[in-house]
Amino acid sequence: MKIAHDVSSRATCNRRHVGAVIVRERRILTTGYNGAPMGLAHCKDVGCHMVNGHCIRCLHAEQNAIIQGALFGVSTSGATIYCTAQPCNMCAKMIVNAGIVKIVVGGEYPDEFALQVIQEAGLELVYCHIENEISKDVIESDKNSSSD
Ligand SMILES: [Zn+2]
Ligand SMILES: [Zn+2]
Repeated sequence: MKIAHDVSSRATCNRRHVGAVIVRERRILTTGYNGAPMGLAHCKDVGCHMVNGHCIRCLHAEQNAIIQGALFGVSTSGATIYCTAQPCNMCAKMIVNAGIVKIVVGGEYPDEFALQVIQEAGLELVYCHIENEISKDVIESDKNSSSD
């Protein structure tokens, strides 16, 4: 999740910075952050393109992580995706069809239908809220720190 937060710092939308990391067997397969498609103008340069309260210029972090697998021929089947924010329902549907079996969520996003999609598809959903600054320690691991 720390790495996903790190990746989110590359996001080019002015409204929200989201990062995603797809992992299998403890190895990173792909990463993604929200931004405009390749070769197109970015929000940080030309401003967001707002329609109905959403910036529609950008692909979402989860989408970009899945697309990177397609681009480089990396299968996402059976993988886990770490997302710094709860996926929206479109990303949730793409995650399901990308064969991803587990979603680790690091932040809130108000999309109830996405949660319904994830539950109905039988994906494992876990929360891992950590301090947004990548230098901060993971809160969740505090109770496991006795081995240090
Ligand atoms: Zn934007
Ligand atoms: Zn999304």
